[in-house]
Amino acid sequence: MSHDQSNYRYQKLTWPAINEAVEAERMVVIPVGSTEDHGPHLPLDVDQVIPGTICERTVKTRSDALLFPTVQHGFLPHHMDFPGGITVKWDRFVEYLLDLCFSLAHHGFQKLLLVNGHGSNAHLLEQVARQVIVQYPGVQCGSLSWWEIEEFQAEFRAHAEAGPRGSAHAGEMETSVYLAIDPDAVDMAKAERDISYPMGDHFYAYGLADDPDDVSTNVSLMEWWSTISRTGVKGDPTVATAEKGEAFLAGAVAGLHSILDEFAEFPIREIEDHHDREVENSDYDPFRPR
Ligand SMILES: [Zn+2]
Repeated sequence: MSHDQSNYRYQKLTWPAINEAVEAERMVVIPVGSTEDHGPHLPLDVDQVIPGTICERTVKTRSDALLFPTVQHGFLPHHMDFPGGITVKWDRFVEYLLDLCFSLAHHGFQKLLLVNGHGSNAHLLEQVARQVIVQYPGVQCGSLSWWEIEEFQAEFRAHAEAGPRGSAHAGEMETSVYLAIDPDAVDMAKAERDISYPMGDHFYAYGLADDPDDVSTNVSLMEWWSTISRTGVKGDPTVATAEKGEAFLAGAVAGLHSILDEFAEFPIREIEDHHDREVENSDYDPFRPR
């Protein structure tokens, strides 16, 4: 293995090493975050740092994957009533991510995984992943949010103390993980429990990982942040600890390994167009893949 190919960070490779990585069928893991208020006790980069760390800890021990630089800015117009957030218009965000993925597909990479760290990116990342496959049938692109990883959720259920809705935003979950990664950047003296929004059954199910017993129908309804949080927090960061954060990270890393193990083997099947009609190359057909 050449020096370059032993490197897991995409941007540190040379162009000949990119050819080698494509030839070796390495997957590309793309953390996607945001720059957004996370209460008075956490910095703005929580949603970048957490998925970036999970992906780095996972990919650096694998020879079959590359880590793409974390996408730092995401979709958060409803957070612009708190200072600091950087929001990218929804279609521009989708188009930008498509350009990243199409570039990777152009070079020959066939397996792309978007790992999200910011709740309001999730629906757009799913759109991106679908669009990549529609345009490049020889490429698989998947997306998930890190807190959906089942091994993380098992650790969360084992360690969480905040109770229902303690971890929607900047609460026990994110604060614990950030404490594990960079404790000097967390001001626990300013951490404050804030579950000030109404606790309905159908319209306020914001908990990301908690509340396994809550099986009520969740209607998606994302309001302006200041109408549902007093401090920018939704949850309880006061019970966060670095020890819990390490357990949460370990679960997320173990789960991402198992996802990548399966993704590496997942077959890419040929599409078969069942129409009788012939389409000339010169004909315009928006449904014809590239
Ligand atoms: Zn967050």
